[in-house]
Amino acid sequence: MNFLLDFLFPKRCVSCGNLGAYICKKCFSEIEFIKKPLCPICQRQAIGGRTHPGCGGRYQLDGLIVVCRYRGAIAKAVQKIKYKWVYDIGKILVSVVAGNLWKFDFPPDATLVPVPLHIKRKRWRGFNQAELIGQDLARRFKHPYSDLLVRNRYTRPQVELKSDKRKENVRSAFSLRPIRQAQGEQVHGKPLNFDIRDKNILLVDDVYTSGATMSECCKVLKRVGAKDVWGLAVALG
Ligand SMILES: [Zn+2]
Ligand SMILES: [Zn+2]
Repeated sequence: MNFLLDFLFPKRCVSCGNLGAYICKKCFSEIEFIKKPLCPICQRQAIGGRTHPGCGGRYQLDGLIVVCRYRGAIAKAVQKIKYKWVYDIGKILVSVVAGNLWKFDFPPDATLVPVPLHIKRKRWRGFNQAELIGQDLARRFKHPYSDLLVRNRYTRPQVELKSDKRKENVRSAFSLRPIRQAQGEQVHGKPLNFDIRDKNILLVDDVYTSGATMSECCKVLKRVGAKDVWGLAVALG
């Protein structure tokens, strides 16, 4: 079956178009990995990715996992899972993250929570790439997973906006998923425990730019008592 699929839809490098893999060896070798973890607020080096004490605040992210720059094959791959429905590329992005997790000092019991898309956009696209990445990571590392948040407003993609407009664009765009909807959710076979007081959370998205989106999500979670909230993104835009 795989053979047949490969025959009908040969894999091509998302970056250079060469046949054989979604990211060929040459393009993979050109990925710009971020060697030392960064503070989510000032984006300067920070041990283990923890927010500098001077940068933090009551409702701020406590740390950031981000693995490479949003350039070359990685940018192409992120665009393809967004716009071309290629699930396999999501898996490649997850492996890129997985291979670098050791650098970060995040809470080992954190629940993975995807940054939500607006329901209209999700329906149009068919999926939310942050969910795919989050679910796959949760399975691999046996973390709990829950889509606790919803996006209330249809917002423009942050990458299309200048940095001064990004905060405004996502202000109050997120809230907790209503409890009735949440009761049907499954967390590794168990019903969702909706009480997030004192829980550690790892927010998952594909690209981290100014941090405005994750910062808004973080606020929502911390206001209801979440303990440490970290961000995880494949690429820094
Ligand atoms: Zn290539
Ligand atoms: Zn800092």
